[in-house]
Amino acid sequence: MKTQHLIGGKWVGGERTLEVVDPATDEHVADVADAGEGEVRAAVDAAAGALEGWRGATAAERGRAIRRLYDLMVRDRERLAALMTREQGKPIGEARGEIDYAASFLEWASEEARRIEGEILPAGKGKRIFVLRQGVGVCAAITPWNFPSAMITRKLGPALAAGCTMVVKPAELTPLSALAIGELCQEAEIPAGVVNIVSTSTAQGFSDVVFGDPRVRKVSFTGSTEVGRKLIGMSAGNIVRLSLELGGQAPFLVFEDADLDAAVRGAVTGKFRNSGQSCISPNRFYVQRSVRERFVEGVAEELGRLRVGRGDGEDVQIGPLINDAAVEKVMGHIEDARERGARVVVGGALEKVEGCKDRFVQATLIDGLEGAMRISCEETFGPVIAVGSFSDEAEAIELANGTPYGLASYFYTRDAGRAVRVSEALEFGIVGVNDPVPSTAQAPFGGVKHSGIGREGGRYVMDEYLEVKYVSLGV
Ligand code: NAD
Repeated sequence: MKTQHLIGGKWVGGERTLEVVDPATDEHVADVADAGEGEVRAAVDAAAGALEGWRGATAAERGRAIRRLYDLMVRDRERLAALMTREQGKPIGEARGEIDYAASFLEWASEEARRIEGEILPAGKGKRIFVLRQGVGVCAAITPWNFPSAMITRKLGPALAAGCTMVVKPAELTPLSALAIGELCQEAEIPAGVVNIVSTSTAQGFSDVVFGDPRVRKVSFTGSTEVGRKLIGMSAGNIVRLSLELGGQAPFLVFEDADLDAAVRGAVTGKFRNSGQSCISPNRFYVQRSVRERFVEGVAEELGRLRVGRGDGEDVQIGPLINDAAVEKVMGHIEDARERGARVVVGGALEKVEGCKDRFVQATLIDGLEGAMRISCEETFGPVIAVGSFSDEAEAIELANGTPYGLASYFYTRDAGRAVRVSEALEFGIVGVNDPVPSTAQAPFGGVKHSGIGREGGRYVMDEYLEVKYVSLGV
């Protein structure tokens, strides 16, 4: 297990360390090097030093290097998944799924590397215009704890394909998955300095260096809206390009013409992934009045089947939340709903798991969601389905759009016309119609409004790491 920084192809430590613990038990997992501004500066130096060589490699060479990294992630799937469960807590089956998902971004980027093309435009008499797309240069990636591998590869793959070099700062709670990717970058013979990884407990110090250095041309961030807002402010000094994948507050609409069994299964699948700690997790369930009771009964029945426990248990569907603050927030949301008159139909309490901390929230179903409740306004980030209702399509759309967030949204219907109308009316970057798991490597993942700027995935992400330049040539 790597625990030092990867800077310029070398593993380097320092005097300070940060402790990584198992969120289920608080058991010590590792002490990881904790970067100060000096190490972050060294990482930027390394990325800047490696830029010319990497940019100068052919598209095929870059593509093959990314492909080797993909192959190594697939080879080490089991080891990487176990490491992720240990530091992040998610059920092992989901951790394997995340490694597959993380690797798929590398596979896609390895193919996309050779499709970075320019254009020749018609111009005035005696002129030609050549449009070039060139890598932006040195990039930084800042990633969250909830998807410790995929949020890195979703940035790293396309950045490398575009000929950029990168400094990665993983979340302080989950640095080991990031360092394991760094180790595989070396084995994949990605040249020294092209990928640098520094962990730090002082995130602001990282930002100060990165945004203060004019060589860093792009920062890609996945995390909370609150931090995203701060980064927008910091980017002003050097006019740094930003991609921001921020928080969500996803609605889940069920129309009376829906396949209700599919909607019930979809609600449970979408909500309980990563114990609800996902930015695209549906948080507000609105069901048409005529089918609401049947929906609530169906979900209640499904929840009985979910097993809560440590992530390393093969038959577990709900693991621990990441820390005490997360538990406090989720329990606070449940309590607030109860106080404001909602009915807790299933769960609503902490589940005791032997030998573990009190971080396991039962799969919870709440009936009677209202607009003033915290669940209606904030990301819950926990295993709670809260159900409200609507009477017609117009009200459903109004409820769904009644949030400053705009990442993912979901609805169930069998009416083709409604599927189109509602998809067009929803103010979200992602719409899952009869589909609770819309994420995939080829799709343009991202949000509108307070959920972010830019898209990750597919060919769309390439524009985030490319500058467009034109050359006007007199002939
Ligand atoms: P967070 O914003 O607290 O932290 C995210 C990252 O930012 C971490 O690496 C953290 O160390 C770093 N950070 C914090 N302050 C910083 C600063 N001043 N300068 C530089 N870096 C700083 O978020 P989190 O709690 O780790 O993650 C959960 C949030 O992420 C949720 O809101 C979730 O919706 C969001 N998220 C969004 C997506 C998406 O694709 N839109 C995906 C996953 C998570």
